[in-house]
Amino acid sequence: MSVVAFECRMCGHCCHGEGGIVMSAKDRTRLADHLDLSEQEMLEAYAEQRGGKWHVITGEDGYCIFFREGKGCHVHPGRPDICRAWPFFRGNLIDSDSWEMIQDYCPGVNPDAGHQEFVRQGKEYIRSEGLSRHDPDQDANALITDE
Ligand code: SF4
Ligand code: SF4
Repeated sequence: MSVVAFECRMCGHCCHGEGGIVMSAKDRTRLADHLDLSEQEMLEAYAEQRGGKWHVITGEDGYCIFFREGKGCHVHPGRPDICRAWPFFRGNLIDSDSWEMIQDYCPGVNPDAGHQEFVRQGKEYIRSEGLSRHDPDQDANALITDE
């Protein structure tokens, strides 16, 4: 049996930092529905546009506005695809150095699995969850794949 290449430890590191959470049209609709808001209301309250793309805003603590200390993601069922895809981002799939570097940041990545197995499991996951994206004008670069 193959070693599990990733299992989230709920540390919250990936919910910290500004500007990384890009929302596609699908993400915006799903998040608004989850919050029981119109898309316009959701965007006004929780998002900002940068470089033509919609991003979830960050709170004063430097975490995503939806992150709750000790509880994790407040909108988990409605979270954007980029949150669903981490750590199987394009860069970590095509570059073993990136995969090694994220191990300091994301304790859920299992170094013992090796990069090849991380890629295999990651691609399978991205495919099965329908997380590949193809529109550089709207989607997060980390989700743009050749598949
Ligand atoms: S950084 Fe990794 S282990 Fe921590 S919450 Fe994010 S996915 Fe989970
Ligand atoms: S939407 Fe949820 S999973 Fe995504 S960064 Fe914010 S708190 Fe984390």
